[in-house]
Amino acid sequence: MYKVYRAITAFRPLRARLPAHTVRPKEGAIAPQGDTESVPSVRLDRVTKQFGELKAVRDLTLDIERGEFFTLLGPSGCGKTTTLRMVAGFEETTEGRVLLDGEDVTGLPAFKRPTNTVFQSYALFPHLSVERNVAFGLERKKVNRSRVRTRVAEELERVGLAAEGRRKPNQLSGGQQQRVALARALVNRPAVLLLDEPLGALDLKLRKQLQVELKRIQRDVGITFVYVTHDQEEALTMSDRIAVMNRGVVEQVDVPELVYERPGTTFVAGFIGVSNLMPGDVVSANGAGTELKLDAGITVRMESAGATVGERAHAVVRPEKLELHSLDAGPPGDRPSVEGIIESSLYLGTATQVVVRLGDDTAMTVLVPNTDEAARQRMPGAGARVRLAWANEHIHIVRGTEGGESAPQPLDTAEVA
Ligand code: ATP
Repeated sequence: MYKVYRAITAFRPLRARLPAHTVRPKEGAIAPQGDTESVPSVRLDRVTKQFGELKAVRDLTLDIERGEFFTLLGPSGCGKTTTLRMVAGFEETTEGRVLLDGEDVTGLPAFKRPTNTVFQSYALFPHLSVERNVAFGLERKKVNRSRVRTRVAEELERVGLAAEGRRKPNQLSGGQQQRVALARALVNRPAVLLLDEPLGALDLKLRKQLQVELKRIQRDVGITFVYVTHDQEEALTMSDRIAVMNRGVVEQVDVPELVYERPGTTFVAGFIGVSNLMPGDVVSANGAGTELKLDAGITVRMESAGATVGERAHAVVRPEKLELHSLDAGPPGDRPSVEGIIESSLYLGTATQVVVRLGDDTAMTVLVPNTDEAARQRMPGAGARVRLAWANEHIHIVRGTEGGESAPQPLDTAEVA
């Protein structure tokens, strides 16, 4: 169904699929005539954007289905906003085509496209009431007054501001102002709503609350949402699918579970959570599976992933999937394990984060749930030799990133746009 994406398919055993909860629009989307179910809502066809010498977006091909909550995720400067702006018509493509509901809109200005954009800065008219702000687009289109009133009331109700219609924007909190901006965009019933870091200016608690609300609203209206963020958690929480971008290229497009559980490249593995990458050499590869001889000593077998013998690759295991064992207990019989030395141990409340340095100098992070206080007290400290083990299904092979890595940023220090 999806033809997408440069790179990585060889190492991706599981394919992107549209999740069951992806919804279809209910009414009013600006769609072309004919069979609109079979064409993607947004299609980027070999799109490149060049600013002088810099290729901000490179040969990007991507299909976004109708009613999908689709997120462009990546570090600052990777090209997500430029991609969004090309869909909106604020930026021209240097090469390639943009199609909306099957119609080529590449040469069309923004105001002729069936899109609306919500920005991080709410961009409300300060002198107009909330109602007038929301009504603005419909009034410009000369929609009749009673229809405007009904639509404005509907959208204010949807975003939880039915009682605030008469207020001015400066009498609202940041979160409320962003809801007004959302209502103002939705009132036009665009086929595609583009959202550029819309929660970026809000504090963490409000952000989390609005993430849930935005998802509910998107399901309610059934409009395609294309959402830009550098926040991995936000992307995982809200999206039907995520495109992870790095240096102008989409490295992986998948449902959140697969982006997290089956990162296709070392960049994706590092950007979505903690890397935990163990390097090694591919020593056998066939239909039955791939064997990687880790620099840390052991040989691990994984699902077939299109690797070639002799190739350098990495194996990834997520921190919560690693088990910490004392060396005295001996290797756990049924699962692979490697030895290392505890470098640090950090109490995080619900879990303890332990960093273990393996023999080949790879640092592995383990998250040990703090379910039993006595067990936590007995946990070995820095300098202790330990064994890390995992179940076979939790180790996956990933390949390097084309053109080298861009430094992945950990969750809490990701640069804010
Ligand atoms: P952020 O999260 O910081 O907004 P981003 O992933 O959205 O980052 P873009 O804004 O798309 O990144 O920028 C991609 C690259 O293109 C950056 O290197 C940026 O400096 C450059 N760029 C963007 N717009 C222009 C422009 N109008 N002129 C020149 N360079 C630009």
